Amino acid sequence: MTYLDYQATTPLAPEAREAMMKWLGGPDSVGFGNPHSPHRMGRQAAAAVELARERVAALFPSGGRLIFTGSATEALNLAMRGLPGSGSIAVSAIEHAAVLDTAESLGNAYVLPVDEHGLTDPCADLLDNTRLIAVMQVNNEIGTIQPTGEWLARARQAGALYLCDAVQAAGRMPVAEADMIAISAHKLHGPKGIGALWVRDGILLQPQITGGLQEAGLRSGTLSPALCAGFGAAAQLALERQEEDAAHIESLWQLARGKFTGWQVNGSEEARWHGNLNLRKDGLDVARLMSDCREVMFSAGSACASGSGRPSHVLKAIGLDDAGAKSSIRLGFGRYTSAESLEEACERIISAAAQQG
Ligand code: PLP
Repeated sequence: MTYLDYQATTPLAPEAREAMMKWLGGPDSVGFGNPHSPHRMGRQAAAAVELARERVAALFPSGGRLIFTGSATEALNLAMRGLPGSGSIAVSAIEHAAVLDTAESLGNAYVLPVDEHGLTDPCADLLDNTRLIAVMQVNNEIGTIQPTGEWLARARQAGALYLCDAVQAAGRMPVAEADMIAISAHKLHGPKGIGALWVRDGILLQPQITGGLQEAGLRSGTLSPALCAGFGAAAQLALERQEEDAAHIESLWQLARGKFTGWQVNGSEEARWHGNLNLRKDGLDVARLMSDCREVMFSAGSACASGSGRPSHVLKAIGLDDAGAKSSIRLGFGRYTSAESLEEACERIISAAAQQG
């Protein structure tokens, strides 16, 4: 079996798993304390949470604070719903549903288009009353990398704040500069069930979950020391290995890209995270391909949209029609993908596609 769905989730790093184990102990261990309890076990758990916070915070620029959440989806909701004030929210057409649907439910949202390469234009028209701009760093479906520095400058000029969904970027490349940044542990070889929102100092948010006032009152609920420790270890490892991982992934990209001659790449090939190869072949029956290649775990469009039967909003935003979007596949690879397994999987996919005639 070959796992080629690194945009959906990534394998847990053994180092992250190891860091979690101490906090998953039973009644005879000291590791099950509530990090918000004042006694010794509680303080030990709290120390593990704070060490993890420092490790995750090292992914971000200085001058902000980190709030642990249950997912990046929750972090994005906190950023968008928690920001006080009225005015419009500008979101790129290729944002994840966590941003698009939240913006829509808040009202006063409008969409920033992308070009055929899947890139936003920081000179695009903005409404005068725009208070928040949300443009992601790396797209989850086609891997395109947005000009985040220019978006921050544009937001400053427009008197708006800049929110960046860095879920697919964090741990793989330096995280964008923004006013608020959301990330998720399971996309960087950490555990599922934990994310974080980085908030620039001076920005005040309204809590969306009320209760025990954890996370400085912004996100009530008992934190899991195990999830925090796993997130922290994964973030630390990702920083240490960033260059090595990037070089490995670049060599995988060269290998896979070279195999798919005659297929079109969806989205820019240059302004792109090369761990994402989103490809299209005219007339391809993706459902049949997936059933013919059951030993290869890959995706037809984004993991969230797949199964819905709806063509991907990202592929449509770059100008593909329904047929084009439905004949596209996404291969995602990373740290633990070997060149041999990738090569074999690509050959399997290419040969199964060729048999479709
Ligand atoms: N944003 C992007 C770009 C994603 O790829 C995902 C997950 O697929 C999310 C947000 C949501 O992350 P989580 O699974 O932590 O809610």
